[in-house]
Order: sequence, then C-alpha cells, then structure tokens
Amino acid sequence: MSVETVNRGYVYSGAPTSDETESYFRQCFGADRLMYNLHVAHLYEYLEKNGHTIGDKLPTFKEMVMPTVKEFKQTRMNEEGNKYLYEVDAFASNEAKQHFNKAISLFNKNAFKGQFKKSVLKRQKTLGIEPTFRDLKGMPKFHSRKNSKLSYTTFNQNDNIFIGENNVLHLPTAQKSKLSEVTIKLNIHRPLPTNSRIKNVTITMNAQGKFEVSINVEFEMEVESIGIPAVERILGLDYSQANFFVDNEGKKANYPHYYRDMEERLAKEQRKLSHMVKGSKRWKRQRLVVVKLHMKVANQRKDWLHKKAYALANRYDMVVVEDLDLRAIGQTLKLAKNQQDNGFGNFRLYLKYKLEQQGKYFVKAPKSFASTQICSDCGVKNTALKGDITTREWTCNNCHEWHDRDHNAGLNLRNYGIRWIDEVLLAPSLVVA
Ligand SMILES: [Zn+2]
Repeated sequence: MSVETVNRGYVYSGAPTSDETESYFRQCFGADRLMYNLHVAHLYEYLEKNGHTIGDKLPTFKEMVMPTVKEFKQTRMNEEGNKYLYEVDAFASNEAKQHFNKAISLFNKNAFKGQFKKSVLKRQKTLGIEPTFRDLKGMPKFHSRKNSKLSYTTFNQNDNIFIGENNVLHLPTAQKSKLSEVTIKLNIHRPLPTNSRIKNVTITMNAQGKFEVSINVEFEMEVESIGIPAVERILGLDYSQANFFVDNEGKKANYPHYYRDMEERLAKEQRKLSHMVKGSKRWKRQRLVVVKLHMKVANQRKDWLHKKAYALANRYDMVVVEDLDLRAIGQTLKLAKNQQDNGFGNFRLYLKYKLEQQGKYFVKAPKSFASTQICSDCGVKNTALKGDITTREWTCNNCHEWHDRDHNAGLNLRNYGIRWIDEVLLAPSLVVA
C-alpha cells in the first residue's frame, strides 16, 4: 500500500438558508459577470482605438494597460458610487479575470485563421454589412444576464469554508456585506471522503433557479500497489461516434437504446420550443419541459457512464484510450449534437479514477499516435485514412489484412499499452513521484 494525495470534485444540490443568502449569491454571480464585462469593454476600446489586424493575436494585458481588479472596483466606486463590488465575495471578481484571460488565450490559439462567424458572413453577403473584429470567431464577448452561466467560485482560506451541522456549508462573506455568514444546506447523497480538505467551492444556479454546489477537495488515499507483472488484462478503447466506444475485441459499449429514445424525445421538445415565440407563455412552459427532460437525460447518462467505468476498472488492469480533443471533433465533424455533454470525456475521467483507486493503470496514447491509420497486424500506416472519417472498413496495402476501422484502432491502443509497460513503466529512468 502507498499513500497518494488526490483531488476530487463533488457536486450536490443545495438550498440557501435564507432569502438574504440567495440574493447574496445572485450578487456574486452579477459581480462575476460585471467584472468580466469590464475586461471585455476595455479590450474593445483598445482595439477600436488602435485597430486590429485580422489574423493577429490579441494584445497582452500590459499592452492594452488593463486595469487590475482592484482598480476596476475603485473606478466603479468613484464614478458611480457603486459599493456593490465590495459587498460580494472578492474571489468572484478575481475569477472573472481568470476566465477572461483564458478566453484570450483560446482566441490567440486560432487567431491566425482569422475566421469570422458564419452568421456574420451571411449578413455580409445579404445585407452588405462588413464584419469587424467583434465578429471574429472566439472573440471574448460580453456576458449577458440571459445567456451567461450564473455561478461564482470561492477558495478556502484558513478553514473559512466548512460543512457544519445538518449538512450546512459555511462560506466566506464579503467584508462590506450585510450578511454575517453565508450558508447553504446541502443535499448530501454521497459524503466527502474522511479527512478531506475543501480547496474551493463553485455555486451555480440553473435555469430552474435551483442551486448546485460543486466542492473540490484534496485528501490522502491509500492505493493498493500491485506488482508490475499483474498488468495482464489490458484493454484498448477507441472512441466511436456511433457506438460510444469499441474495444480491442471489437466489442461495443452497448449504449442503452432507452437513453437514445430519451435523447430523441429531448430533441423533439427542443425543436418545438424553437418554433415558439420567445418569452411567450407557451414558450416559458415548453422551456421548463425541455430543462426538466434535459436534466433527466443527463443524470441517466451520467449514471450509466459511472457503472460502465466501474465494471471495466474491475475487469482490467490497464485501459488505454486516445488523447483526442473531443471538443475539436464535435466542431469539425458537426457531431456537436451528441457531443454536447462531453460524455466520452467524463467517461475517461471516471475510468481513470476507478482504475487508480485500485492501483491500476489508465494510459492515454498521445494525439500523434495514429490509432486509426496503423495496421494492427503489420504496423504499416495507411495514410489515405488521414482526415477521412467515413471509411469504416479497409484492407492493408502491405499485408492485405481486412480491418474494421474501430476494432483496429482498439487493437492499436492495446498494443500501445503493452509497449507502454516496457518503455515507461519498466524503464530504468522512471521516477515515481
Ligand atoms: Zn498490414
């Protein structure tokens, strides 16, 4: 046995203990949005003044003389006598800055493409309106009250976040807030691990006005150290759009039909909603139907993913998957509909946790590993398959072996795992942290 420090997230539904607390949370969400928007406004102002060349990266904070969070707060206070930003959790504002920072890095990654949004190009064609830098794909946008996620994150400092009696979570308050304490009652279906330390908490309010509390904890966990020779049962899993995954034996995930039916029903209700007059009585009623169904589908799916991951972690010593960017796939292949909840991404995460808990191995083959193109029999790469997503079966030019695309990829991933044991696990230079 060895002891490892691990980080985990736990999500509970919660209810603010008073109306004042609920409005405090709403204020925090608002502060997060306001601070984010102040950053966006500053960026736009800079770009309008200095111009922006399509294809260029966005300026750094230093270049655009971005005020600090403290300065933003001060300016708002001086100009509008607005104390509001001082009355909410200070972390809410700081997080907004982090999010804005992330949005900028994300934009910069693809800035060279200089792509405009499709809707904007259509507008240009039909109405002759020229796009501006604001219409660039990925450009940080103002968060509106309607479209932004209502949430804020706060961090534990000197144990000012803790779960007290009756499963009530105590959160830090702001210096200038009227509230002496901020508390939310949690519905704890699965307790936090014993001796875990709370690192941070994110409070979110969903479309139905219900609160969700996501708690990140750190704790020491004993893991069974199994001997290396015990890595015998190795599974290669290839992500499959149609079957969720296909393994190295050609077995499919058997995603329950029932869930697919539910998803179709959801899509139907969503279509109905899209035909209604936004904001009307009927629209509001239908929107509630969609939200409820959506939550049901999401919960069922999550439950299934957990069970599947649990079963595989028990059966195998090592599972090998591809390190693919699922979001990118969703975008480029127009598979976004089934990809929205990032099911496979979560599944990989559950699988990793469940394997590591038993001292087993979760291995990700790097993006450069062409699991679909390599012939699992002779190892020769079939480069004709690069970028081709429609070919489901192929025959190797070198050894003339016939392959089912997904099954072959599963085999390659398994082979990668076998090599990984020799090259990484048993490598003499290996440093076990
Ligand atoms: Zn071959």
